[in-house]
Formats: sequence, structure tokens, C-alpha cells
Amino acid sequence: MSYISTIGLEVHVQLKTRSKMFCASPVEFGAEPNTHTCPVCLGLPGALPVMNHEALRMTVLTGLMLGCDIAPVCKFDRKNYFYPDMSKNYQISQYDTPLCTNGAVPLHDLAYPKDAQKNIITPDKEVHLVRIHLEEDVAKSFHFENSTGIDFNRAGTPLMEIVTQPEINSPEEAFAFLTSLKQILIYGAVSDADMEKGQLRCDCNVSVRPESQAELGAKVEVKNLNSISGVRRALAYEIQRQDADERVRA
Ligand SMILES: [Zn+2]
Repeated sequence: MSYISTIGLEVHVQLKTRSKMFCASPVEFGAEPNTHTCPVCLGLPGALPVMNHEALRMTVLTGLMLGCDIAPVCKFDRKNYFYPDMSKNYQISQYDTPLCTNGAVPLHDLAYPKDAQKNIITPDKEVHLVRIHLEEDVAKSFHFENSTGIDFNRAGTPLMEIVTQPEINSPEEAFAFLTSLKQILIYGAVSDADMEKGQLRCDCNVSVRPESQAELGAKVEVKNLNSISGVRRALAYEIQRQDADERVRA
């Protein structure tokens, strides 16, 4: 029996704005911890967020580059949760009115890993998108031997979330998707998309099912991957693991 793997990606992209999403604190990688903060991005009571116009422009530009529909009306929502890296206990995000819907990322041949370019199963494939929405990044935790420190410099950095349809069928296609997307983001000057600096981070949803079965297999999420080759390796491992599981059950 042969098996099909189905992969969907959620990609978080830090936008290259000079200031944060809802305040005037600067966005700067590698600054002394907790020096780029203010009452808004620390979540102090009574602080009033004011939207960053440039972040909105960059998200709409990304949507236009990827052929998305741009929403005529949108709003922000509070995503409530308790987490040490989010001092106000909610994240400002977009729930039911994302800025961009639909659109696609083309997988061109040279975006595939070098060792896979001679054997591309679906040339000229496009991976369709569900949505792109705008939200704010959280603070960053640093774990020491007996304690944890939190750096709020990153809290409130404009963050775009790009969600694909579950249309990716191999680790090599996921690699090509991220390479192609990264090139487009850099070309449009909306992000430096430097994964080593956490400017582009990826969650992968993956499931495996027998070819004869229509419904998708049980989904597993591999979170917070920070390199494109890491995504390829993690998916290859996870697909092999689920494949072995399915074969035992069959
Ligand atoms: Zn601030």
C-alpha cells in the first residue's frame, strides 16, 4: 500500500518596521534587554494602542504580491491566554477578519533543495493560502539554570501570520514554499526574513494516510522551526514515523 502525506504550514514573519505594532518603541534585534519598551508594549493598565500604518501597508503589499483578496474592512481581536511572555494576558490579533485571504505562493524549480531539483514531481505547483493576518509578537524568554528572564524588546513587534491550505505533499515542497516565500518577502522589503534572528518562524501540520483513504489522517503539529532545512528534516522524520505507525495498523 502507498501513503500520502499532507502538510499545511503556518509561517510567522516579523515585519521590517522601525517601530512596534501599537506603540512608538523601536524594533531592533540584539539591543540590551528591556530597553525598547513603554507602557503599551509592557501591557500596563490604561495604555492605549495606536496602530502602525506602515505594518498595515506592508501586510497589504504582501497580499498583493501573492495575489490575495484584500479585505475592505477589518478589525483586531483580543486572543486571551495566560503566558509569562505576554504580560497583558492577551495578544492583539485578527480572528474573523484577516487583512488578506486566498492567494498563492509559486514553487519554482530553483526554490527546491539542490539534491531534489532533478526530480520535481509537480513542476509549476502553486501552494494556495487560506489567509494572512496581522498581530503582535510576544516577549522572549531566556531560560537560565535556576530562573527565567524575559526580554520585552520583542513584545509588540508587528507579526504577519501566513497560513497555507494543506496542499503541500513532501518535505521538499515545504522547503520550496519557504524559499520562494522568503524571496518574495525580501523583494518586497517587508521583512529581512532572517530565520537565525527569528524573523521567520514556521509551524508544520502533517498527517499521513493510505492512498485509498479519502479522509485525512491524525494531524501532528511540529512547532517553532527556525530554519528551512530544519523544516525539511523535521517533516521527513515525522512522515516516516507516521508512515510506520500506519503500516503497523494496516
Ligand atoms: Zn512600546
